[in-house]
Amino acid sequence: MKNIGIMGGTFDPIHYGHIVTAEEVRRGFHLDEVVFVPSGNPPHKKGRRITPAEHRLAMTELAVRGEEGFSVSDIEIRRGGYSYALDTVNAFREIYGEEAEIYFITGADAIVTIAQWYRADELMRRCRFIAAARPGYSFDDTNEVLAKYGDRVSLFSETALSVSSSEIRARVAAGETIEDMLPPAVIDYIEAHGLYRKGDPKDR
Ligand code: ATP
Ligand code: MG
Repeated sequence: MKNIGIMGGTFDPIHYGHIVTAEEVRRGFHLDEVVFVPSGNPPHKKGRRITPAEHRLAMTELAVRGEEGFSVSDIEIRRGGYSYALDTVNAFREIYGEEAEIYFITGADAIVTIAQWYRADELMRRCRFIAAARPGYSFDDTNEVLAKYGDRVSLFSETALSVSSSEIRARVAAGETIEDMLPPAVIDYIEAHGLYRKGDPKDR
């Protein structure tokens, strides 16, 4: 029987908050593997435009390359548009089987929203959730979610890195350093492709 972690996100770009959380959760919960699943691009513009999926996927692959116990899946990108976590979990169940233990890993900010996710009750039966601490977000806000799905949700406070993709994008646009916030290979990629620079139409 396998224990699999799914780390979903926009990963625009992926950073050490994602990577360290995934590694600590992998160790703490004895997961065989954590699979990073970058989201597809929304079909319609909704607020900030997200960097094209090919770039976000490439950066995620660069970050994970050579890391034992990590892999990347392009399942949501291939599907295109918005993906439901339930579809993704069901697709993983087809690969790993009904007996596998599947953990969906989120940050403390995302876990408070899960009751609103598509077919949340069914999703909660299909996988467990692990919510990692994140500076600026209190686990106090998870009380409602825990009251409803408590036995399916684990809180994880071994890590709490304050880095976010929004801060990285803002720093690049301001010409500030992003060293130590994400892997050097991803920084090189951002520079080579001119991502997140000021004047980028995405930021307007
Ligand atoms: P943005 O600032 O654009 O929202 P982000 O840094 O929040 O980006 P996402 O791609 O939105 O990154 O997050 C994907 C998942 O990773 C979410 O479940 C989120 O809660 C979690 N996550 C992101 N950053 C951290 C962090 N520093 N520590 C723990 N979890 C995190
Ligand atoms: Mg976020």
